[in-house]
Amino acid sequence: MLQIDVISIFPEYLSPLKLSLLGKAQDKGLVSINIHDLRDQTNDVHKSVDDTPYGGGAGMVMTAEPWAAAIDQITNDQDEVDLIILTPAGEKFNQKMAETFANKSHLIFACGRYEGIDARVGEYYAGKSNFKIHQVSIGDYVLGGGEVAAMVIIEATTRLIPGVLGNPDSLKEESHSITGANDEVLVEYPNYTKPASWRGLEVPEVLLSGNHGEIAKWRKAQAERRTQQLNKE
Ligand code: SAM
Repeated sequence: MLQIDVISIFPEYLSPLKLSLLGKAQDKGLVSINIHDLRDQTNDVHKSVDDTPYGGGAGMVMTAEPWAAAIDQITNDQDEVDLIILTPAGEKFNQKMAETFANKSHLIFACGRYEGIDARVGEYYAGKSNFKIHQVSIGDYVLGGGEVAAMVIIEATTRLIPGVLGNPDSLKEESHSITGANDEVLVEYPNYTKPASWRGLEVPEVLLSGNHGEIAKWRKAQAERRTQQLNKE
């Protein structure tokens, strides 16, 4: 079972993780998701988790100690842990990364706020032999916090775990997983369902033909065309 822990100052932001396929996956025992309030690791009356940045500048930086206290409470020295620090300055998340994370046993997501987390948190855990650190961004833009980014990664990762999707065949021909003639990664072909004629628009003839070879050929060509189009933009 994949264990996922998410640390945030807004635990309620992560409540959608209980819904839909992910909620069912937890009920089935395929994945366990625990949300932790970073402020539970503070000792002062204001439950402060931030301070002014060394070197000056606008905004506040999240202090290292509450993060370390939260991470230490969740882990032990035997645990193989992948610590995912959400940051717009990280490596860009993609399907390949989701596949890697889906094969791990314990993922911890650190959701930053303010100007981010004191850089020594990542440095400290990188020095521990049972930890692997991933600084991950979900795209070239800046969010207010890491919670939405954590949910994106968790959803893309957990749907790859066997048993999470009702029909595992759904994973076979998806965008970013299918490859073209030269092994390039493609997006999916367009999909259609009933009725065959809708508001004057017809489903492509080949999809109604029952000829599986022709359908597969058409879909591959469409996937290649769409991918080329995207790469041009
Ligand atoms: N000062 C930071 C910078 O310029 O790189 C931005 C901090 S942002 C306002 C606050 C938090 O939101 C970050 O610590 C991170 O956890 C999260 N965040 C913002 N954009 C993100 C992105 N594109 N991917 C992942 N996390 C992001």
